[in-house]
Amino acid sequence: MITDLQNILSTNIKGMKRSAIRELLKFLGQPGLISFSGGFPSPLSFPIEELKSIIAEVMENEAAFALQYGTTEGDDLLRTMLANRYKANGIDVTKDNIIITTASQQALDLISKMFIDPGDDVIVGLPSYLGALQAFGSYGANMIGIPMDDEGEDPNLMEEALKDLASKGKKPKFIYLIPDFQNPTGITMSERRRKEMLELAHKYDVLILEDSPYRELRYEGETQRTLYELDGTGQVVILGTFSKIFCPGFRIGWVVGNPDVLDKIVVGKQATDLCTPPFTQRIAARYMEKGYLDPKIEDIKKMYSVKQKVMLESLEKYMPEEMKWTHPQGGLFLMVTGPEDLDTNALLLECIKEANVAYVAGNSFFCNGKGYNTMRLNFSYESIETNIEGCKRLGSFFKKVLQK
Ligand code: PMP
Repeated sequence: MITDLQNILSTNIKGMKRSAIRELLKFLGQPGLISFSGGFPSPLSFPIEELKSIIAEVMENEAAFALQYGTTEGDDLLRTMLANRYKANGIDVTKDNIIITTASQQALDLISKMFIDPGDDVIVGLPSYLGALQAFGSYGANMIGIPMDDEGEDPNLMEEALKDLASKGKKPKFIYLIPDFQNPTGITMSERRRKEMLELAHKYDVLILEDSPYRELRYEGETQRTLYELDGTGQVVILGTFSKIFCPGFRIGWVVGNPDVLDKIVVGKQATDLCTPPFTQRIAARYMEKGYLDPKIEDIKKMYSVKQKVMLESLEKYMPEEMKWTHPQGGLFLMVTGPEDLDTNALLLECIKEANVAYVAGNSFFCNGKGYNTMRLNFSYESIETNIEGCKRLGSFFKKVLQK
């Protein structure tokens, strides 16, 4: 082995941090551990029987296609099925507005590769999805965090940030938003707020990235129109994924946007992985074609809405009074906030060891290095009973901590 590995590393990789969540996954094998940490779907949501027969059919009828390299843009059949689905939901796109990516994490990386030079500004929520912060950070982005209220990112603070950059002759490369059941807070942006964001994007001529993995998992309340639809001018790019409504193991996502933007992402993707596996794409396309996706999403919603309700009730019952949490209308997460001086980061290992419960310390979602008194809880992965038991243990752990 060479002697100077550290010296030859790129500046980019030196600046990258391991994901606190991915690191936590190592503890998942610990006996009895209740994990509220990852963004894992329930294994019961996977359509195993349907997939067994579709996989056999694909191998029987179209193996030569499915096992070959595919186009970088993605399987035409899958892109067409996705376009039709958007159209059925009132979003006017064709397959030429859609490319397939190796799930949306790759889209985040490719978009960063396309837009970000070291030092470029990017606007994100405060807090926002850790994997996006990692992707933007790995290309040297300077992230400007906009605090959120219960309707989403604060429009006045957003405008202040845009104005401030403009006064220095700068503008951000894009605004990154997760309008539906945001990760980590679970907050959904109101339509009024969506329009305010679009107004600002137009006024300051900035692209919006609408990351949308949880949109379809609504358990109550009314669906809000996408920023993409409300905009209608091509200034918004949607990131979609099958990870939470089908199987994350397929690693299939997509980008919806203006063909000029997509074209550049495709060039970036050519150098990254040539194409997303045609095998999984074709299986997913046939799964959609058979009409399995929509009823499956309904099943998943039923399962998760109960899990969420139970978690909210259990938090109410067991958590110390000083702690508050969001009440999302869908998605996989909620965020708990404790007193100012609570440090969930410092307490995490103790919580795993003592209470055998894992959460994600909220600090990792805050690009300004704050949020130490917050934590993200996932309610989709564990069973209903385990969600209750986990809240009970978490509650007694934090009651003890706050009494000290
Ligand atoms: N964006 C957001 C907001 C997410 O929460 C996640 C996964 N938790 C992703 C993107 C990445 O998902 P995937 O790569 O599995 O599509």
